[in-house]
Amino acid sequence: MSRAAAFVNARLGTPGGFVPIGSGVLVQDGRIVRVLESTPTGLGADVEIIDCRGGALYPGFHDCHMHLTATGLQSGDHDIKTCRDVPSILAQIKRIHEPLVFAASYEDHRLTEGRPPLRSELDAVAGDRPCLLSRIDGHSCVVNSAAVALFGVGEKAGAERDERGELTGRLFEAANYAAQNAMFAALPFNALRRADGRAAAMALAAGITTVHNVIEGDPSLEHLQSVYRSDASQPVRVISKSCTFSVAKARALGGRVFGGDIFLDGSIGSRTAAVGQAYQDDHKHGHGSLYVQPDQLGELFDEAAESGLSLGVHAIGDRAIGEAIAAWESVTARRGPLRGLRPSIDHFEIALPDQIERAARCGLLLSMQPAFDYLWGGDDGMYARRFGAERAAGMNLFATARRAGCVVCGGSDSPVTKLSALLGIHSLVNHHVAAERLSLDDALRAYTADAALLAYEEKERGAISPGMAADFAILEQPLHVVPATRIKDVAVTMTVIAGDVRFDAAAS
Ligand SMILES: [Zn+2]
Ligand SMILES: [Zn+2]
Repeated sequence: MSRAAAFVNARLGTPGGFVPIGSGVLVQDGRIVRVLESTPTGLGADVEIIDCRGGALYPGFHDCHMHLTATGLQSGDHDIKTCRDVPSILAQIKRIHEPLVFAASYEDHRLTEGRPPLRSELDAVAGDRPCLLSRIDGHSCVVNSAAVALFGVGEKAGAERDERGELTGRLFEAANYAAQNAMFAALPFNALRRADGRAAAMALAAGITTVHNVIEGDPSLEHLQSVYRSDASQPVRVISKSCTFSVAKARALGGRVFGGDIFLDGSIGSRTAAVGQAYQDDHKHGHGSLYVQPDQLGELFDEAAESGLSLGVHAIGDRAIGEAIAAWESVTARRGPLRGLRPSIDHFEIALPDQIERAARCGLLLSMQPAFDYLWGGDDGMYARRFGAERAAGMNLFATARRAGCVVCGGSDSPVTKLSALLGIHSLVNHHVAAERLSLDDALRAYTADAALLAYEEKERGAISPGMAADFAILEQPLHVVPATRIKDVAVTMTVIAGDVRFDAAAS
């Protein structure tokens, strides 16, 4: 049965012409038939009329790097982002009456004490229930004694000890990842899937129609298959991406893309990103850490290329980015250009100018997080604290990367930053460094047409033109009529996938 709908009373058009001018869209069987210039008359009785209430209609947003489960798990009392000191975190933890206590999103420098609660303080509120508080970036955490015992992480690299040799509870590097993975593995499967569902609803409420769900760690094939099946049943479109090191497993899972957080290094916040110039605010972290041997990386890329699969690796510091590019260069030197492959470097924060040129020559896509600059860029931001203001100004170079010919795809890395494409677009238009700002049209492309390239969907999605899927984000106002500094605050009124209204602010 054919299904026709007219989305009317909308405002279409962008200053650069990326979205054509119009007042609505005619849709048939989930696809755009044509852009309407005026409210149509004489439509058949079988055409459903959907009133967009004067809202601005854009292609549905894609979030190219986010974590469904972690996003869902961190809602409500589990989100400690707004706590400003250790006692308020502990008070919030006390309200969690679950057998495993998980909370996340503290930032050391935003807390009065300059540190999260330590092991003994968590013992006092969580008792013998294992408790893990994840730093906002997930690259370090703090645990209580019961969690140390349950997860067996006390002897692992990165388990911090005080001057008396006692575990502080703070975990970095291998100890952190082992504990975080063990915490998730210990939660019931259904609870994790319920969390996915909460995150999917959050995405729809943010105008996001497609998410790349980056699944960290390397669980069994059977476990991953059940997560992929669950992803396929979500109301938002999900591109499931396992971060396995096994190309055979990625092949068995299906799809053309995987990875996103195959970790080559850590994060700037946790001072574990692998950088050429040492951290200047805490010398014991030196130049951060590289997690993967160059040989291992070269083999992984070569095997993926052989199988026709594209993968994304997490690289934040210039040393990690350099390793990823060098490994792809060795693959192209042996096999020729990466025709048909679309590998990405995810985050790509501290890229040196020559690395940007080399990434463009290799044809690597950049899956970046504009809100990182919004949250931590600028002369007084966390990045300036880590490396000095001058160096911080050379990070997250969106405009430079685009000028070099790289495709820049936007993502939130939620729950690291808010699950909001509008915050990402806002961050691109308002970058702390004026020369790195993108035009509104280019910022929109990073979350629509260019984002679609990452999953080979550019012929299907990411633009408003005939034949494209009817995936829309409808906003209260066109983004070009509000001041640039207010883009992030524009309300999403409706989200549509394949012509089907999946979120309606008026109905919720
Ligand atoms: Zn990452
Ligand atoms: Zn991530």
